[in-house]
Amino acid sequence: MSIITENFVDEEFFDKHAKIIQIDGQQLKGFIAIHRHFNNFPSFGATRLYDYNDQKHALIDVLRLSCLMTYKSIAADLSYGGAKAVLFTTDYLKKDRVNFFNEYANEINKLSGEFITGSDVGVYQQDVVNMKKITPYVSGVIVDPSYYTALGVVTAMKKSIEYLKLGDFTNKKIGIDGAGKVGYEILKILLNKQADIYLSDINIQLLNKIKSEFPQINIVPVNKLYLQSLDIYCPCALSDVVTFDNYKNFQCRMIVGAANNQLFSPELGDLLWRREILYLPDYLVNAGGLISVVSEYEGVTDELSVTNKVLAIGDRLHYYLEEAYRLNKPLHRLVDAAVKNRLNSLEFNL
Ligand code: NAD
Repeated sequence: MSIITENFVDEEFFDKHAKIIQIDGQQLKGFIAIHRHFNNFPSFGATRLYDYNDQKHALIDVLRLSCLMTYKSIAADLSYGGAKAVLFTTDYLKKDRVNFFNEYANEINKLSGEFITGSDVGVYQQDVVNMKKITPYVSGVIVDPSYYTALGVVTAMKKSIEYLKLGDFTNKKIGIDGAGKVGYEILKILLNKQADIYLSDINIQLLNKIKSEFPQINIVPVNKLYLQSLDIYCPCALSDVVTFDNYKNFQCRMIVGAANNQLFSPELGDLLWRREILYLPDYLVNAGGLISVVSEYEGVTDELSVTNKVLAIGDRLHYYLEEAYRLNKPLHRLVDAAVKNRLNSLEFNL
């Protein structure tokens, strides 16, 4: 483990991060980025396991994601700074998953509690449960955050549908891009509400399994879902879903999803707004998982308390919906500005 902050001050995505650590072991490789610490509290951010092309790609991802975690925490009225870890998938992982995560847990211990982590893309609750035997600095062991992330996203969808007076979920065409931990939970909640589900994933085996469980869903080829005429497009895979090349082709009324960093750039949110596509900021609506792991860390695990905290995402969103339509300003700009103000005042008072 080595601290590399000084070498990356010129990096485009470096936002005066508090600490960046490179893990460069024989078997275990990746980065941990701590974006902000507030009042000596730990910083929270889940761990992503991915087949990165190279170190630069992984570093950019961890810098962007850790920054987003600070925004998410502030937007959810939490007291913790943001962080994130990314790990490269390696042959060793395929050979001995438990030891791979044991080694990673040892790395986390070296940070003495500055960084609390859990499961993101490619990491499962069982991995976190195993890591807990080695490190106390993991959360999401008792409660699986994916369900609460899904609950927050669906709450935001419901609030927006109601605000725009579009009725309820019955027969609404909703496209879920990514059928992993969160996408699957969203799908189950929405099927219960009689929505018409369109689903896509690069993992064909997974799609077949879900289709046999829920024959009523419609499977759509990869990278084609956003082209469908949908009420809601729900990105639940990776980042940069909306780009300057594709934003004109989205055929939905709104974009509400769990994926982090959905916009390649904030200007794309403005362009979507002009096309009358309501984009809800990822970090505002997907905070349910963070809220649940923070609750677990603070010793609160009862379902009702955590659920109520997650449902409050809907109340926050309602305020921004009213402001956005009153001022005719893209909603994501209002949320970004509010979070930046709060961040500035937190930093000023440190
Ligand atoms: P996951 O790894 O369980 O699932 C991701 C799914 O996306 C996989 O099934 C994968 O095959 C699929 N996928 C990958 N590339 C794709 C593509 N191009 N098109 C369609 N599908 C593709 O991850 P997850 O935990 O469900 O997280 C999904 C997203 O939500 C991520 O961006 C994550 O950062 C974000 N998120 C997750 C949580 C959480 O609680 N897990 C919380 C907040 C945000």
